[in-house]
Amino acid sequence: MPMLEIATNGRSQALDITRQVQQAVSASGVGEGWATVYVPHTTAGVAINEAADPDVMADVLMTLERLVPWQGGFRHAEGNSAAHVKSILVGSSVRVPVGGGRLLLGTWQGIFFMEFDGPRRRTARVEVSPA
Ligand code: ZN
Repeated sequence: MPMLEIATNGRSQALDITRQVQQAVSASGVGEGWATVYVPHTTAGVAINEAADPDVMADVLMTLERLVPWQGGFRHAEGNSAAHVKSILVGSSVRVPVGGGRLLLGTWQGIFFMEFDGPRRRTARVEVSPA
């Protein structure tokens, strides 16, 4: 199963990985089916949203920070509970239909690796299954 290697460069970051996921779809040879992107981390996630205006994901990150402030009086000794909570809110996988060998995303949609405790070296799995 293809594995994407992702280097993040901020504590919180929304990194557009649409191109890399499309490369995995193309390499799979699957024409019609589904692509699943799975993030095997407890302080990161994956989300689909607008890729046209970068201010959208900046606003999403700002809103998550407001909802779950880094200093939240948490118990976890590692000190990154806010990142664990954001990871759960955002989720660890997305599934996108594939047609004609292409991701069938909407016009404005992109796939974002969501970092909440970076910078780190991360991975994401991409499974492409025929319909
Ligand atoms: Zn932790």
